Amino acid sequence: MEHLNITTLEGSSQIVEAALVNDFRGGLRGSSMTQGDPGYDESRVIWNASAVKHPAIMVKCSGAADVIDAVNFAREHGILLAVRGGGHNVAGNSICDGGLVIDLSEMNSVRVDEKAKRAYVGGGALIGDVDRETQVFGLATPLGVVSLTGVAGLTLCGGMGYLRRKHGMACDALLAVDIVTADGKLIRASKTENEELFWGLRGGGGNFGVITSFEFQLYPVGQTVSLCAPFYPINDKTGDLVRSWRDFMSNMPEDVTSNCIFWSIPIHPNFPEELQGTPVVIPSTIHIGNPDEASELLQPLRELGDPILDLSGPLPFVDLQSAFDPLFGKGERQNYWKSLYLDLLDDDAIERVVARANVRPDAWTMVILWHLGGAMNRVDPEETALGVRNANYLLSLDTSWTNPADNEKAITWTREFWNEMQPFSGGGAYLNFPGQGEEGEALLRASYGSENYDKLVKLKSKYDPSNLFRLNQNILPGK
Ligand SMILES: Cc1cc2nc3c(=O)[nH]c(=O)nc-3n(C[C@H](O)[C@H](O)[C@H](O)COP(=O)(O)OP(=O)(O)OC[C@H]3O[C@@H](n4cnc5c(N)ncnc54)[C@H](O)[C@@H]3O)c2cc1C
Repeated sequence: MEHLNITTLEGSSQIVEAALVNDFRGGLRGSSMTQGDPGYDESRVIWNASAVKHPAIMVKCSGAADVIDAVNFAREHGILLAVRGGGHNVAGNSICDGGLVIDLSEMNSVRVDEKAKRAYVGGGALIGDVDRETQVFGLATPLGVVSLTGVAGLTLCGGMGYLRRKHGMACDALLAVDIVTADGKLIRASKTENEELFWGLRGGGGNFGVITSFEFQLYPVGQTVSLCAPFYPINDKTGDLVRSWRDFMSNMPEDVTSNCIFWSIPIHPNFPEELQGTPVVIPSTIHIGNPDEASELLQPLRELGDPILDLSGPLPFVDLQSAFDPLFGKGERQNYWKSLYLDLLDDDAIERVVARANVRPDAWTMVILWHLGGAMNRVDPEETALGVRNANYLLSLDTSWTNPADNEKAITWTREFWNEMQPFSGGGAYLNFPGQGEEGEALLRASYGSENYDKLVKLKSKYDPSNLFRLNQNILPGK
């Protein structure tokens, strides 16, 4: 090929000579693509249609050796670098214009040690890859609720799913990683090796290097679990319904996890045609214990009004994990997702949530009250970088819309809602739903807490002083 036109880390344009590029590409075990190569346009599509970018080169790594070479090549030539696990980052950080993308999608192997209850997971595996291999043994690790999401991005910023109250967050189940750092070295980090780095990786995002392999603790789960999902039409009783859900959940055992979802019944063949588009509130609740006990325990949630649809019942854990998949396809819609932890879900907070949820900018936009607590809150805030561990709720504004002409309306609605709810929050955001992270350091400091944030800055200065890994919720190295 000819020379490569690249964007530098500082944002200027530069040329990397053909001989150097060919040498790099020729050494890879995996494949690489530049503009015009077959597959280039398909490969640069990530989940959020708002992030349309044209990298100079994408490297589909086959193993740690390719990752090491790619990190070294980017660093030596000062090339803007993006790292892609599952490609589901809502902020769109796993793709860039003019830079190099380290794409780990082919490093998706999962090996389970049933006896030791451990899973060894490739840096590009999806949640569904892990569930498939672990559920065969009736085991699972806490990940997220859409099986097409990448394990890497999710875990590095925390990772909340249906097992959070019983088994904690994904980062809490993490036992060790293999990571390629900015100097191109492959090292292991765990509670006994490179401990400080391991602390920072449990919440600190993609700031410190490229994870080639994760080791997770597994727990007995399922294989059958129970879903309680009545769909209630939104009306003048919705505030009362949400209050009842709040009170009900405050007494539930940790086998039970719930998200109160404001949405519209999707315009999708999986739903009855006559109901499609109807605004609803769904106190969607999962019980991972005995299904017979679950149906009795959760019955009151099915009697909070007159549901127009009810998807409640026992189902395989893998089916639960993939239930949302058909509705969240790659590149289908524009997205801007922002969140805040709520210390307080009093009647005033509920009224505000219901009022805003009534004027969502698009039928696809979801407002979710995640009920927290249990194992995820028992972790000391200083034990991992993640920070917030004492909130009882997370409010996530999953703003999704079809028409790019609505960009401003949708983002403005989200930001106004987020601002309005600040008095009910200790500040910060859950950094897997950070909007575009526009608030910069202020958002990170509030999300991690000042003490954890200062520690993260020190770690960044040690492991990535030139900020090679900057396309993320970026922690700037200290001066
Ligand atoms: C449909 C959908 C459902 C979601 N559901 C949940 C949920 O239930 N719970 C939850 O907690 N979050 C959820 N999220 C948010 C999700 O956790 C984040 O978007 C996360 O970034 C996705 O990870 P990924 O690997 O797919 O992302 P990518 O876009 O591939 O990567 C995101 C960032 O992670 C870093 N990164 C990725 N791979 C690596 C690696 N191997 N080594 C080092 N850094 C890496 C990079 O900084 C990259 O920019 C959901 C998102 C979507 C789109």
